[in-house]
Amino acid sequence: RLEELQDSRTHGSTLVGPPRLRPPDAHDRPRRVAMLSVHTSPLHQPGTGDAGGMNVYIVELAQRLAAIGIEVEIFTRATSAALQPSVELAPGVLVRHVAAGPYEGLAKEDLPAQLCAFTHGVMQAWAGHRPGHYDLVHSHYWLSGHVGRLAAQRWGVPLVHAMHTMAKVKNASLAEGDTPEPAARVLGESQVVRAADRLIANTEKEAEELLRHYDADTARVAVVHPGVNLERFRPDARGVEAGRAAARSRLGLPQDAMIPLFVGRIQPLKAPDVLLRAVAELLAERPWLRERIVVPVVGGPSGSGLARPEGLQKLAACLGIADVVLFRPPVGQDRLADWYRAASVLVMPSYSESFGLVAVEAQACGTPVIAAEVGGLPVAVKDGLSGALVPGHDPRDYAAALSGFADDPARSTRMGEVAARHARSFGWDTAAATTADMYAAVLHERRLHRIS
Ligand code: UDP
Repeated sequence: RLEELQDSRTHGSTLVGPPRLRPPDAHDRPRRVAMLSVHTSPLHQPGTGDAGGMNVYIVELAQRLAAIGIEVEIFTRATSAALQPSVELAPGVLVRHVAAGPYEGLAKEDLPAQLCAFTHGVMQAWAGHRPGHYDLVHSHYWLSGHVGRLAAQRWGVPLVHAMHTMAKVKNASLAEGDTPEPAARVLGESQVVRAADRLIANTEKEAEELLRHYDADTARVAVVHPGVNLERFRPDARGVEAGRAAARSRLGLPQDAMIPLFVGRIQPLKAPDVLLRAVAELLAERPWLRERIVVPVVGGPSGSGLARPEGLQKLAACLGIADVVLFRPPVGQDRLADWYRAASVLVMPSYSESFGLVAVEAQACGTPVIAAEVGGLPVAVKDGLSGALVPGHDPRDYAAALSGFADDPARSTRMGEVAARHARSFGWDTAAATTADMYAAVLHERRLHRIS
């Protein structure tokens, strides 16, 4: 019905879209989505190696999609012979383990050579079903995008892709001594950008980067802010200050300490070294603070940080602050919530961050954040209200930001209360509903395309 033709600029989260006969609605939503996560499993512990925000993103999104009636099957590479071929993660969410290459000993950089084997495994799983088993493919990170391209084409369904990180953006702001992403990845990402029916960007800034660096088609870029699990990451029911005291006693931390916290994968890109240098600066100016500062670093080595797993410990020793830094291996998210609640402030001096879930999680627990002014962090942190944004990576600037919390401990509670309110706008239910609407828009376009 051509007379029903409308401009899709008014619909969904797509910035600009092609014409359609009627607006898409809930009936256009897929029944089942094949989600691809080749290089890291949603069942892995985030905070070390290749497991981080993307794993959390997939788990939370899949569960929320299933809760609104969209089944999700997540394909990931099997990394142990002991794994079952499929595991139910939650009602309506299945993780399928695909054998592709040796189980152990493969780095992410080795995986392009295993993509054929992985695609074969996905096709075999699909062959056991009736046609139309999957209505849509949603791939995460460029390696999965390549498998997604082929699967979507073979099944005649749309491909939705999320980059999570982009080689060109990463290479433009490398930490000193970090290894640049190879040209093969840049090329691979460009191919996926061209093949995808929709590209999901975490923020408007990431959408712009897709257009600027990868020449993405504006009509195919949709912005969906990731969420935070607000049931898990929340202030203590007794309030931010009482909650901090309770979390400190649960973790065996001193009640009166200044606690700047780092959480995340230990790699040059995340710049935990900047925090340690800033603490050394702070202590040089305020020697009295040494007796009452604790700097927890929660997470494990990852990326080029794997080459020097002891590098950060050595730096702490060189800076003469080994006695105040507390290294802790990655922990489950319920325990992590206590680390956030216990902290005076979370510090995230990253060189590049497509969003930075840790920043929102800490705020949701009532803890302010000092973050580098990069990537999605200016969206995650309200400068001057829920924390502070610092331009660049000079440790003296981070020391200056930290001194505000050291000199006025009540600032953590004041800003933490604002932070908790700010974080409430980032629920996963909203992210899942926006994603489901975007799926509907893409499927709707496909149907119209077939009609015309
Ligand atoms: N994380 C965790 N346990 C840890 C450290 C981190 O579960 O000990 C999780 C954290 O809750 C967050 C994710 O790892 O959801 C890191 O995401 P972020 O976007 O901050 O960084 P990425 O790893 O994607 O670069």
